[in-house]
Amino acid sequence: MRQWISSSAAEAQLKVLTSIGALRHVDNASVVRCYACDETHETAVEMVSLGRFRAYCPDAGYQDVSAHDLEVYAVDIPALAASIRRGLEMPPNRPIDELLTGRLWRLGEQRFDRILSSIYFARQLGESGALDAVGRALRAFPEQGPGVIFSSSPVDRAHSFPLAPYVVAPLDRYAELSNQHLRLDQDRIAAALRGDDGQVCGVGVQFAPDYRQVRIGQEAYRFTPK
Ligand SMILES: [Zn+2]
Repeated sequence: MRQWISSSAAEAQLKVLTSIGALRHVDNASVVRCYACDETHETAVEMVSLGRFRAYCPDAGYQDVSAHDLEVYAVDIPALAASIRRGLEMPPNRPIDELLTGRLWRLGEQRFDRILSSIYFARQLGESGALDAVGRALRAFPEQGPGVIFSSSPVDRAHSFPLAPYVVAPLDRYAELSNQHLRLDQDRIAAALRGDDGQVCGVGVQFAPDYRQVRIGQEAYRFTPK
């Protein structure tokens, strides 16, 4: 949700993902977080008039809420897969294999230096049990590594290790936006596959499958159904 993204360090990632069409504004939240008082609480949004909203805080009274802050975003996997394929100059029109529902997709293969690698996209790897589930799905697939798993999640080095020979590549580290296109740093990806680029960091925006929760860095934000 826009309100939380704006108040975090993730605004730049949101811009990258929205401008390539991988994140879309799909809904508007009915609850916002209150920033008017010292409590951490959520408050229901009321529409005052067309395009004008407010939320009530028991301590601070009515607060104006901008329509912009209410925007809820969802990940568009085919659009994101197309951007990654374009960024790596892979054939664009092959089917995407969803290896783990809502979590892991195989996009094809690409060669980095002399290493032929499978290309995957995964989301929400920071969730508990997610890496284990992804590991099981990869082992069940007939081909065995090496592979690059692009992810919108931040994954620390210790966590990425159990997936070897697969490398987890957070998009904020391996990709940048150039003229509305995702540009992927193939040299750095090759280095990661060789094990020369173990340093992984960054802030990711991860959405729950029903988009009722977003995790930004270490903080999770939950919103209630309308
Ligand atoms: Zn309040």
